[in-house]
Parts: sequence; C-alpha cells; structure tokens
Amino acid sequence: MKQGASAQRGGLAKRLGVRPGSRVDLSAIDPNATHGHRRSASERELAAGLERLGGLQDRIWAEAKHAVLVVLQGIDAAGKDGTIRHVMGAFNPMGCQVTSFKVPTPIELAHDYLWRIHGRTPGKGEIGIFNRSQYEDVLVVRVHELVPKAVWSKRYDQINAFEQMLAEAGTTILKFFLYIDRDEQKERFQARVDDPTKRWKFRMGDLDERRLWDSYIAAYEEALSRCSTDWAPWFVVPSNHKWFRNLAVAEILADTLDALNPQYPPGEELPPNLLIE
Ligand code: AMP
Ligand code: MG
Repeated sequence: MKQGASAQRGGLAKRLGVRPGSRVDLSAIDPNATHGHRRSASERELAAGLERLGGLQDRIWAEAKHAVLVVLQGIDAAGKDGTIRHVMGAFNPMGCQVTSFKVPTPIELAHDYLWRIHGRTPGKGEIGIFNRSQYEDVLVVRVHELVPKAVWSKRYDQINAFEQMLAEAGTTILKFFLYIDRDEQKERFQARVDDPTKRWKFRMGDLDERRLWDSYIAAYEEALSRCSTDWAPWFVVPSNHKWFRNLAVAEILADTLDALNPQYPPGEELPPNLLIE
C-alpha cells in the first residue's frame, strides 16, 4: 500500500517532467488531465503532501546546506497565486521567500535582465519561490518584441548557463508551467470581472494578452523545449483542475526535497545525561 502510493508520486514527476532536449508540443498535452487521481481523494492526498513538505522544509532550514528555487510560470489566471497560497502555505514563513516579478522598474531596466533575478535567489537553507521569473524575458518580452529577436534569442542559453551556475553552487531548481486552456482562462477572467473580491486582479489589458494566446503558447513551447535541463527541469502541470494542480506541485516538490535527504544537524557535543537546572 505504502509502496504503491510512493510509486504513484514518483510517477507524477516523471509524467509531467519535460525530458531535456525533447520538443514540447502543448497541443498534445491535455490541461484537464488528472493522471489517475480523483477529486474525491484529492483533499486527503494534498494534506499528506503538505504535511511532508512542512517536515522537509524544517530539516532543510535546520541543515542550511541546500537552497531550493521554485519557479512558477503560466499564462494569466493559470493559478500562480493560488498555487502559492495552497502549496507553499505548508512552509514556515521563516526560511521561505516569495518574489513576484513585475514589469521591470527603470533601475532594473538599466541592468541586464538577470540582475534582479539573482538578487532574489535563495541562500542555503532557504526556499525561494518565483511568481514569474527570468522566463518573462523570453515570454512577454518576445511576444511584444520589447527587445529585438537578436537579443532575446540568446537568452535561452544564457538562462541555462545561469541556472547551471546556481545548481553547481548548491541550489535545487524546479520549474512549473501551469497549463490551462483558453476556455478555462475565459471562465476565470469572467469570475474576476463578476466577483468584487477578485475584480482587483483584472485589467482590461489582460484581454490584449488573451488575444496573443497563440504567440504566448509558441513562446512557452520554445522555453520549455530549450530550458528543461538535468539541473533545472520544467514540469508541465495540467491546471484546469485546481485540485490536481495543487496536488501535482506539492507531490513533485516533496519528492524532490525528499531526495535531498535533509537531516537535522547533531548540534554541539554535550556532557552525558545533561540536566538543565
Ligand atoms: P501580475 O503577475 O498579474 O501582477 O502582472 C505582472 C506583469 O508584469 C505581467 O503582465 C508580466 O508580463 C509583467 N512582467 C514581468 N516581468 C516582465 C519583464 N521582464 N518584462 C516585461 N514585463 C514583465
Ligand atoms: Mg495579472
């Protein structure tokens, strides 16, 4: 029973991971897929995943040996914020840092595009979560031609080299592409328009981006194809079902942290049978 469950968990990382060097065709991936998981069991499965994550993070923080970087990308309304709330909520805020990358400021634009990114990468013992990332510089920047092709087309190799350097310095990197389809985005946008508690998330400009759907998909396909590496793999997470998205991210993350085998440090040597008076 226990073995079966862990085989299934290992299965999700394998099923959703982008094999380095392979060509990603998103039209061949079903954003509704749930890979044998059921909604009825998902609450229990997620709770178990979050429990594991909390315990692992405590060890990672205590051990202060590994840095962990989680990159979240997705088209507008794909669920980046929701994933942070539901999955990263398992972590103790101490030792966990979320960074949301917005339109670059003038100071950021005066530097190379990785400058602001490197300033937010996690140190040893920390888990860094990127809500958008260096990939915006080959996504929105490419789709809107904010820099010439000659400039952005070099960035895939630059990002791979940057991530390799981080990995060699002790950072474990996982990148999740939350994949929804156009109909799902339509429903989520409509909910943002109709629900006063969600309205603040919607801008008319989101509709301009929605019209560029095909260009974004092409840009994502290239980033996923060229930048899934042994040291910084991409996972394509079918995300039309929020419950499956949360479950998949939690399990892949927990399995990855588990493999680091983080241990509590022994502490300093103490006299035997020390009693505190
Ligand atoms: P949100 O995530 O909804 O708060 O929106 C952040 C906005 O910042 C999105 O429209 C992104 O496309 C945009 N953004 C993030 N990084 C960059 C970048 N490097 N260049 C241009 N726009 C960016
Ligand atoms: Mg937005």
